[in-house]
Amino acid sequence: MTPSSPDGDRAEKGARLLLALADASPEVVLFATDPDGRVAWHGAAALRELGLSPEAVLGRPLAELLAEGQGDSLPPFRSDEACRSGPRLLNLVAVDGSVVTVRALLESGPDGLLVAGARLAAEEARLGEELLRLTNELATANREAVRRGRELERTLERLRAANEVIEKLARTDPLTLLVNRRGLEEAIAHERDRAERTGEPLSVVALDLDRFKRVNDTWGHAVGDRLLSAVGEALRGGVRPYDVAARMGGEEFLLVLPATRRERAAEVAERLRARVAELVVEGLPERVTSSAGVAEHARGETTEALLERADAALYEAKRLGRDRVVLAPPPGPAG
Ligand code: GH3
Ligand code: MG
Ligand code: MG
Repeated sequence: MTPSSPDGDRAEKGARLLLALADASPEVVLFATDPDGRVAWHGAAALRELGLSPEAVLGRPLAELLAEGQGDSLPPFRSDEACRSGPRLLNLVAVDGSVVTVRALLESGPDGLLVAGARLAAEEARLGEELLRLTNELATANREAVRRGRELERTLERLRAANEVIEKLARTDPLTLLVNRRGLEEAIAHERDRAERTGEPLSVVALDLDRFKRVNDTWGHAVGDRLLSAVGEALRGGVRPYDVAARMGGEEFLLVLPATRRERAAEVAERLRARVAELVVEGLPERVTSSAGVAEHARGETTEALLERADAALYEAKRLGRDRVVLAPPPGPAG
């Protein structure tokens, strides 16, 4: 006689309940195999569902009842100890060829395999699996798209930044770091159009170093370059942020001063002339003076005509002995 224990009693009671359930409910599928995996016992409902007779099932390998390549496979048999799997979807083939999907717990051990589960409607199982697959695919695709999108955004941002630098360089004179001729042409056309549109004043200052050729000839081209660079710094630092300080070429500079009348522009030119005259440059024991011509834009005047008037005033400053600022008179009736 086997000694009975509370645990043993509960297990026996549970097993009896399960058997009763397996026979009563068409949804419950219950199989037990011998150590070789052949069906040794089955619940009545399992056979009804599959349309099989007990003779067709008993002694047959359980694996033969499974639809090939579908659902989960049976776990490997363990001869040493009992081992229970998590819920698996098993596709059993009925006699008429239809597939009965079972969500089952499988327990394998030295005595064989126990399959206990409930039937899932075939369509429900198929749709469930399909949905799971699609959800996974979508999540993966989504993650990938987000990653690619971020990468693309970063690349575009870098490109934009690089482009800005290139654009800026294309309009910058490398020696003085002032706006170059190309940048100046754009800026002055823009400011001239704005002045025409708004009626606000606009002045320009043409500034040229005096006897610069002699500086080069006496102290060398490198010293001349250093002086040009220092003048660039003085001009950049001596105007408002929305003014434009440009190098026209050689030792000629041009300031574009929006919203500025010619008298005020002349004051700015005078201040910058004084600054340039104070510049101390390595290798240059003398001070260098400069001359400037100031012109204010007249309504309807082209930028060429405006620059010509500033140039004429500069020429006049040179003629009068250099180191001075000359104001251009307004254009005559002839233009
Ligand atoms: P003025 O007072 O009449 O303006 O006389 P100037 O000698 O300044 O004028 P000129 O136009 O005769 O000479 C300008 C000199 O500027 C000639 C050229 O060698 C020099 N130059 C032009 N570009 C550069 C440059 O990038 N670097 C240096 N170091 N010199 C330059
Ligand atoms: Mg000069
Ligand atoms: Mg010159």
